[in-house]
Amino acid sequence: MWPLLTILAIAAAIGIYLGWQKKFARLQRQTQVEMEDFRRHQQQTTIDAKAQQQVLFNSMLEGLLLLDRGRKIYLANRAFKNLFGVKAEMRGKTIMEVLRLHELAELVERAEAEKQVLDYELKVPELKERWLQVNAAVISNSAGEREGTILVFHDLTRLKQLERTREEFVANVSHELRTPLSLIKGYVETLLEGARNNPEVAEHFLRIIARNAERLDLLIQDLLTISALESGRVQLNLQPVAVRLVAEKVFADLKSRAGKRSITLKNELPDLSANADEGRIEQVLANLVDNAIKYGRPQGQVIVGGKSLDEAKAEFFVQDDGPGIPVESLDRIFERFYRVDKARSREQGGTGLGLSIVKHIVQNHGGEVWARSEAGKGATFFFTLPLAAPKVEEVAEVEAA
Ligand code: ADP
Repeated sequence: MWPLLTILAIAAAIGIYLGWQKKFARLQRQTQVEMEDFRRHQQQTTIDAKAQQQVLFNSMLEGLLLLDRGRKIYLANRAFKNLFGVKAEMRGKTIMEVLRLHELAELVERAEAEKQVLDYELKVPELKERWLQVNAAVISNSAGEREGTILVFHDLTRLKQLERTREEFVANVSHELRTPLSLIKGYVETLLEGARNNPEVAEHFLRIIARNAERLDLLIQDLLTISALESGRVQLNLQPVAVRLVAEKVFADLKSRAGKRSITLKNELPDLSANADEGRIEQVLANLVDNAIKYGRPQGQVIVGGKSLDEAKAEFFVQDDGPGIPVESLDRIFERFYRVDKARSREQGGTGLGLSIVKHIVQNHGGEVWARSEAGKGATFFFTLPLAAPKVEEVAEVEAA
């Protein structure tokens, strides 16, 4: 009896052991699967976080560069790569290996040594000079140990260019104002010193003073116009404008000037209606025709013409048969104060701003302006303007026909 009971007990124990072992193995497998799931989930979370971080960094307008403890690049965002035109993989490389910019490498060293945010202006020597503002700061962990360095880059090039243009403009304006002013001052002093006693000399000097005062007045008027046009303060009063009639008015105003040089004015404009500000278009035509008279050939002719290019746009031109404009100056003549022949322009009472005003007005209308010229064969100035929508009756007439 006892041996049987012992065998049964052993068999039961083995059964229980095997059962537990199976259950344990199942539990172990389940735990493994869960652990694996957890690991995968964590991995995915890290990948998602990194992707989100990348999207965030790449959406920044500022260039961003993260360096690790060993000053190797850990991350560079899209703006940074665009700023420096880097296409290759940068991770793990040093600043010097990627950009060869000593100044930047030194800035990182300084940021580490000084342990504060540094603000620095960096000039990047390239074909086209570029200016960047760089902020550099050290990243530390909670124990205060250095983990790396962060550099943020702002592109200052446009701002610097604007600053330079403004400085040049102020310098040019001062120069332009000084010339007539010093002439006026000089002749007034000479008159006061006694020249006024000789009526003939006095009249001659007073005429020079009057001419220069007139020049100052023109210059100031042009400067005010340019400044208003550039600041966008000018509200265009758009309405259908019969450009042919505007040219007639301009011709009437400039007839005596043309007559002095025996220049014939020809209006070849067809009946076109531009969608424009009449006063401003008159200014455009007046400046172009005035230039054509000033710089054109004596006894020559000035023609104003145009045609519609499509339903929405028309092209106009002002042509003279003077000496023309050198090819290398064709693009520059629309710049403020640019003159091909400074002495000639001043002698003719020019301010050097006429074409710049023309360009602004045409562009404010959504048009373009350009010039064509061949040495000795005259100059032609072209500009485009939007056409006015045809009147309802006109559409009806066309449809009926
Ligand atoms: P300005 O007051 O000197 O005439 P503009 O801006 O009107 O200033 O013109 C700039 C320069 O372009 C002129 O100084 C002149 O050298 C040149 N220019 C303009 N129109 C003509 C033209 N029709 N023929 C030759 N040169 C011209």
